[in-house]
Amino acid sequence: MAIRIVTGGIAQETNTFQWEPTTLEDFQKGSSHIVRGEEILALEGTGTIYGGIIAEAKANEVELIPTTYGSAVPGGRVSREAFETLKNEIVEGIRAAMPVDGVLLGIHGAMALEHNDDGEGPLITAIREVVGPDVPIVAPLDLHTNLSEEMMEEATAFVGYKEYPHIDTPETGARAMQILVSTIKGEIHPVMAHVKLPLIAPNQSMVTTWQSPLKKAIDRAREIEKEPGVVAATVLGGFPFADIPYTTVSTIVVTDNDRELAKKYANELAQICWDLREDFTIHPTPVKDAIAEALAGEPGSVYVLADISDSGASGTAGDGTAILKGLLEANATSAAVAQIMDRAAVDACIEAGVGSTVTLSVGGKHDGLHGEPVEVTGKVRLIHEGSFVIAGPMGAGTVASRGRTVVLEINGRNGIELQLTDLRGHPSDLNFFRAFGIEPTQRRILVLKSAAHFRAAFEPIATKVIEVEAPGISSPNLHSFDYKHLRRPVYPLDPDATWTAE
Ligand SMILES: [Zn+2]
Repeated sequence: MAIRIVTGGIAQETNTFQWEPTTLEDFQKGSSHIVRGEEILALEGTGTIYGGIIAEAKANEVELIPTTYGSAVPGGRVSREAFETLKNEIVEGIRAAMPVDGVLLGIHGAMALEHNDDGEGPLITAIREVVGPDVPIVAPLDLHTNLSEEMMEEATAFVGYKEYPHIDTPETGARAMQILVSTIKGEIHPVMAHVKLPLIAPNQSMVTTWQSPLKKAIDRAREIEKEPGVVAATVLGGFPFADIPYTTVSTIVVTDNDRELAKKYANELAQICWDLREDFTIHPTPVKDAIAEALAGEPGSVYVLADISDSGASGTAGDGTAILKGLLEANATSAAVAQIMDRAAVDACIEAGVGSTVTLSVGGKHDGLHGEPVEVTGKVRLIHEGSFVIAGPMGAGTVASRGRTVVLEINGRNGIELQLTDLRGHPSDLNFFRAFGIEPTQRRILVLKSAAHFRAAFEPIATKVIEVEAPGISSPNLHSFDYKHLRRPVYPLDPDATWTAE
């Protein structure tokens, strides 16, 4: 008889410095989505965890029973209503599918709720109550997981992404399915050990397109996974823009029934991160200097100015203006900005119509933490419904949307092309320009509101990437956040924090 595996989950990364909660409605607009039943199986072939999960299920002749999967773009805490609604659908779907041989969960790992600092722990506990103690529950985890003890207690095995940008989501989903199938067949008996370090780190120091400190530990994790008895070795950078007790760098090692071995390797990976703790510091470039360098570049060069402190993928406002202000002051040419969220400005442009010239105050309105509103005058060149297909490598084949999108042309065709949107976005793909008639390889300056995911698609076309210093709630300067709920001491807030392996 075929192995019966049930699947579903809730995926969201929570920035607790974002005042606006993530509601059930937010799960259903822009790039977010709730898919149910067969709609989950339609994610086959996409650059998501389900791309890998479904392929691996087919390869193993698994009967994959879909429930509900809700995935929201990063933002504020998930509302009680959204969490309870999705959780109940998942739990009831599993109950209806019983008896099952295993559960493959689609989660992120850094979700916090309006009413609980941990989202994944309570979800897994609710599922465990339905399936009982003996049915394995396995999940892939995002590299930015803020690991909770409850997650570790209730799940059977975790395996995390090893790439940031997350270009390995399908293969991590597939690996989770392999581990689950091997467990069900009795080929392995997974046991886990984990370490939570007294260390928080900026997202930007976790990138794997260069030898960042986290990358060094992940390289060792890949070696450890080749050792006999090891099932999975994971290094989690954590998500630092969450003021909750679970926010840390952590490690998880899964072995075949050898707790001591798991502990040994989890400690070894933690030690690598701890020894490199001073290297998890990022030194962004002032706006003026970044723009001056780009404008002085060779003809034909492309400079990516990364607005790393207002990263749509980190749940920020998405309306930060510091770099736009700098471009206007420098009278910059050949610049394209993706993007500034400003619904009122979008309304005004649509009302004026294509070809009209408008003067607007844009951005800086959501929370006052991402710069002041900036006055611009420009021509409405394009009005777009907003959705388009991602080319990849990250998320290839999925549909992105920032709601209604306007391209405003400031200082003529070779001036500044500013995208104004209804929703904050996550410009990690060349189609964030191409879908709106802007060819990114033909612009001197590309401004991206992204901490790191942009690197997968933009590093290959960029002469240089400059991480720009600007205000925002995904700033790499962790000292700028008013943390109240972290476990202390924690490095770098407490420079004298110590850690030794158990
Ligand atoms: Zn992530």
